[in-house]
Amino acid sequence: KTMSNNNVMYPPSRPGVSDKNMVSAKGLPLKGEPVQIVIATENHTFDLDEPALEKILLRKDVQDKMVAIVSVAGAFRKGKSFLLDFFLRYLSAGGEEDWLGDDNAPLEGFSWRGGSDRDTTGILMWSEPFFMTNKNGEEVVILLMDTQGAFDSESTVKDCATIFALSTMISSVQVFNLTQNIQEDDLQHLQLFTEYGRLALEANDNVSKPFQTLQFLVRDWSFPYEAPYGAAGGRQILEKRLKISDKQHPELQQIRKHISSCFDKISCFLLPHPGLKVATNPYFDGRLKEIEPEFLGQLQILTPLLLAKENIVVKEINGQKVRCKEMLEYFKAYMKIYQGEELPEPKSMLQATAEANNLAAVANVKSFYMKQMEDLCGGDKPYLSPEALRTQHNRLAEQSIDMFHATRKMGGPEFSLAYEEKLKEDLTEAFENFSRHNDSKNFFSATRTPSVLFTVIVV
Ligand code: GDP
Ligand code: MG
Repeated sequence: KTMSNNNVMYPPSRPGVSDKNMVSAKGLPLKGEPVQIVIATENHTFDLDEPALEKILLRKDVQDKMVAIVSVAGAFRKGKSFLLDFFLRYLSAGGEEDWLGDDNAPLEGFSWRGGSDRDTTGILMWSEPFFMTNKNGEEVVILLMDTQGAFDSESTVKDCATIFALSTMISSVQVFNLTQNIQEDDLQHLQLFTEYGRLALEANDNVSKPFQTLQFLVRDWSFPYEAPYGAAGGRQILEKRLKISDKQHPELQQIRKHISSCFDKISCFLLPHPGLKVATNPYFDGRLKEIEPEFLGQLQILTPLLLAKENIVVKEINGQKVRCKEMLEYFKAYMKIYQGEELPEPKSMLQATAEANNLAAVANVKSFYMKQMEDLCGGDKPYLSPEALRTQHNRLAEQSIDMFHATRKMGGPEFSLAYEEKLKEDLTEAFENFSRHNDSKNFFSATRTPSVLFTVIVV
């Protein structure tokens, strides 16, 4: 099922500014427009606008060329579209030195700063492909993708996870746009979304990395004295945030391992604040004159890092470079997975956290019980009478359950019930093992079997 084309109108950037009159920095009309390729419907299904996508990918001069797809993803209102419009400028200017262009030209392209309520969750693609010959002399088509999704709303976890996962699967470079810093919950989101993508690709072998380049982009970085703006500071922060150490909670270690295992290359870039006019002035139209020079300076470093011919990353799937017309097939295939019923529902952060809390509590209590029992009747401890052992077990099991109850966990008591049951089962099983081991220490118990046999023979 595809959307009809009159549904894919994208609202103009600002009232009174028509998308048709867009002018690029160099005074040439900016060719193309944003096209909504994937849209999340009200009942949380996903539609792919196949005709619109075909129009881009099957163009005669495009379809047989290799493709590089640069996507920007992250929460609402964090300057994604604004950034993409600079990418458009760079590509339109063919990456020439003065690509930033005229000081007074408004910034056009993907709509930025539109009314926040009107934004629909989905994926947009710039209708005009850009052509480039990369460092290997291959002709490459570059496509830009903008994504929209509200990361913070509980009811749309699935929508968001799907859009992020899809855009990660499709792109060769995923820019993960964040503000201020890389926070723990950003990493959690990333884990959830990439896991959802990996699940869809069934690349669970932990050998091949399912995705290509991940570029963390931190906006409004305000600690340049701690880590400098740009790629070097980004590397510093990234190393710090993705470092795995034994001292970390296993859950935090797991998130970090997961993220590293998903991408061929991960980097980070720190952008300064663009200035108050950009952040707060409702009449700001994106002209360079009103943007902090320091921001523009870093933008001039970042943009070629992602889009210059030496750096552009061709899309690869299973180690094979992909051409535009093939990408259309992948697009359709990936969409089908998310339209189908086979994938499990991605869990909300709350649910995932509650689960992790409860599992951790169970593990903790169990290790308390094991330790105590080891001290009582472990390997080198003397034999105890079965009655004495059972009494000790009952006492410790009761203490363990109390401990489990007393551990703070998310999700509420009802949610914890299943974990408590599991804990009780595990304790019973452990007790049975300890009992057997204890029995084996008893000479009389060890000879019981022959004596029984003997009895039988005598009778
Ligand atoms: P999107 O929803 O992530 O695509 O965000 P937009 O690109 O529409 O930008 C949302 C608002 O943030 C606009 O008012 C921009 O002027 C502003 N903005 C753009 N870049 C930045 C930035 O780096 N820092 C801050 N503080 N604001 C920005
Ligand atoms: Mg946007």
